[in-house]
This record gives sequence, C-alpha cells and structure tokens, in this order.
Amino acid sequence: MSILIFEISLFSNNLTNDVAQNFIKTLYENGDIRQFILREEFDLSNRLGIEYVDVQNKFMIGYGIDRNFITESVFNEVISSYKIENIAHDFSILKINIPSKNYKTEYFFINENLVSRPYFYLKKENWDTLNSDYILFFSKDSARLSDYSVKKLNRFIDAMITLLKISKEQSVNLKKNKLVYILCENQEEIKRISGFDTRGIFFLGQNYLVSTYNYHVHEISHFLINYKLNKLPLFTLPVLQEGFAVAYGGRGGKQPSVLYNIGRFLLESDLIKINDILTKSGFEQFDASLSYPVSGLYVKYLVDNFGIEKFLEIYKDNSTTDLLITQLKLNITETDLYEFNKYLNTKISNKIKPVNTKGEVNYYFSAKDTIFISNKPSLTCYSSDIFNEIFKYTEYANYKYGIIPSENGVSVYNFFTNELIAFFNSSFIHKNDISSEINAKYFSIEKDVFEDDINTMHHSIFNK
Ligand SMILES: [Zn+2]
Repeated sequence: MSILIFEISLFSNNLTNDVAQNFIKTLYENGDIRQFILREEFDLSNRLGIEYVDVQNKFMIGYGIDRNFITESVFNEVISSYKIENIAHDFSILKINIPSKNYKTEYFFINENLVSRPYFYLKKENWDTLNSDYILFFSKDSARLSDYSVKKLNRFIDAMITLLKISKEQSVNLKKNKLVYILCENQEEIKRISGFDTRGIFFLGQNYLVSTYNYHVHEISHFLINYKLNKLPLFTLPVLQEGFAVAYGGRGGKQPSVLYNIGRFLLESDLIKINDILTKSGFEQFDASLSYPVSGLYVKYLVDNFGIEKFLEIYKDNSTTDLLITQLKLNITETDLYEFNKYLNTKISNKIKPVNTKGEVNYYFSAKDTIFISNKPSLTCYSSDIFNEIFKYTEYANYKYGIIPSENGVSVYNFFTNELIAFFNSSFIHKNDISSEINAKYFSIEKDVFEDDINTMHHSIFNK
C-alpha cells in the first residue's frame, strides 16, 4: 500500500490542492493568472497579437466571473468545496459547484498548468491535424474535412483580407501562426470540447474556432474584424458585431445573400424595425432569426455605401466595456434610413424567381422533383451533414448542389459546404418581386448562385 502511494506521488503529475487554491485566489481577486497557464498554450493564445482593452486575463474570456458575485462568503465556499478530478495521468479538472448560488464552473489542467477546455481534450485524445494556408484544423474524422471546404475557407480568408484591407504584415503573420479550427462530429462532441451547447463558438482568448460546420465563416468573420482592429474593447453593439459576421459569413448554414432576402422581407413586413435593434437590450429582445438577418443587411448597406474604413470607424466608436455597452445606441439619421430603404429596393433581390426569365444570367427550370448536381457522381469518404439531414434514407454520392422544389418554394444547397445558397418561398414575396404566377414547378435561378456552369455538370433527378 505504501509503495502504491509512493508511486503515485512520484510519477503522477496532477493538479495539487496548493496550486488549485492559489489559482482560485488569484482568479477571484482578478489578479494576473499568467503564471498558471501552460507555456505552450499561452504562446499560442498570443501568437496573433489581438488585444482586448480592459481585459485583465484574455486567456479567461468566456470564463468571466461577475465581480459583484465574488463576496468573501462565496470565496470561502469555493475554497472549501472545490473538487479536483484526475481523469487521466497528468489531466485534471478543477470543479467548482455552489448549488445555493446556482453557480458551477470547471477549469482544466495538464500537469499543474491551466489550459483551455478545447486544448485539454485535443491533447488528451490526440486529435488529427491538417495544415492549410491560414488554418490549422483539428478533427477526429478527417473525412469530414473535404478538400473543397478547406480550400474554400482559405479563399474566404483571402477575400476578407482584401475587404478589410488587412496589412501585408498581418496576413503573413496569419499564414505563419494560423487560426485553429476544431471540427466536431456532432452536438455531443462540441458540448464536451467547448463546454457549450452550440453549433459553433469562437474562443477569443486562444483564437480557436470550435464548430460542427465544415464551413463556418460566420465565426471566422468575427475573428477577422478583431484581427484587423488588433486592439479593441471586448464589447461592440450587436447590430454591428453580429451584423458584420452575418453580412459576410452568413449564419446557421445560410449564405449571406439568403439572409439579406430574409432581412428585407422581415423589414418589409414590419416584423422588426432597424430602430428596434440599435441598442444592446433592443437587439436582445428579438429572436436571433429576426435580429441577425436585419443587422447583416444594415451592415452590408453601411459597407457598400460608406466603404470599409468608415464602417470600421463606426464599429470602433460603438465598442466599449461590458458596463458602458448598455448605454450605447447606434446613431441613425433620417437620411440614413432613407438611403437604407433605397438600398433595399434597388440592391437586394431574390436570386430565385418563380417565373420564366430565361436568359443570360439565369438558369430556367421546369421541375417538381429534386435535382442533384455533381461533377461526377461517385462515392467518396466525404459525407454531407445537410444532405444526410434532409435525405435521411438516400445514399450521398458526392453531389455538390441540390435544387429542391417544394409546395411553396425552392431551396438550393451546396452540399460541400452544407449551406443554403438560395431560397425562395411564396410567402416571402417582396413587393418589388414579380409575383404573378407562383408555382414552384417553374422557376429561374441566377447563375451566380453557383460556382460552376451547371449545364456542364452531371444532373440526376431524385423522386421522393
Ligand atoms: Zn456571431
């Protein structure tokens, strides 16, 4: 027995009570926790140089503790009730749970060093990595990382570097130091890795994107605007912050152009007004399915109308601390509103029309069955999540696009990125759209919805 104890103390390097208590004390006193962080991950978290003003411990963003909550009695309760769970050799979780305060949190340690939750599991489970221009991918199942989406993600970053006018020096730094993209297999896995019940989340402290989507450019857009600004306050009015990510990255498997149309429809039908979401609390009153598309549309208008530099100025002017953000309101004048409405009426249009407008810019369809389009139908190891979700009992054969007519509309998917790339619904008709003959059997789709000339591709009809 004594030999066993001796062996554990000699070879195991798990978190000790001394370190745990010291860590809790430092964190709760808002001290500098740098000394506790694993050196390798500390360097990783600072490699891209983004700084958040007024944040004491960038590494802990997302693990924030409400300062008002930390009273002496809470602190004493934490110190007397925390638990250390050693889940493997060198891997420990510090668990804090105060049921009376409904407060529960966990901190992760390798040896005696603090690491982020994703890092902890990646190391413990030894995930596969794949390197690319700007992104270092981690995945357990490399089949989910199609060559196509890896290339497209990097091309997206290239395009955003141009849009945001990110300097040569900064883009070289990004190529060298990489954004980390952790691709999770499903909801269960992302919850375990990130600690959140979500489809995707960005860890600002470490520049990690954790997602179940193989093409999650919404979160990458959030990251890139921060990278461009380099030193900024942590909080920005959501109409601008989310608006930017939606305008360029879309959201929830919907491409930006699809969301612009939804946003325009929502404004047109008075379900939400731009004036309603100019403050943080105003924005939060609405479900994300309303506030996000409208914000995206407004940001797109701002960038298109005033240019990216002016937009970034507005963005910075409306970024501040967590306390002051509640007092900010985005300034919109009567002229802005007038110009925005003009923009909606002239610049935004649905890419699918329920009429025969065959021509240079459109493909015309007369179809009531689903059409799958592929370069060459074949079975690959890549499997499309959205395809499997929609066509549960059908085998996926490397289809790139799916055009799906239904009773009252048409949806077009890119199965390689799992995105809805165009969408038409007869109840979503805008007053400017031609709405004479609404019949999903006949419709046209603008050619620029597709990356390819679909006439030269392989089509197969799917009859449900
Ligand atoms: Zn977002």
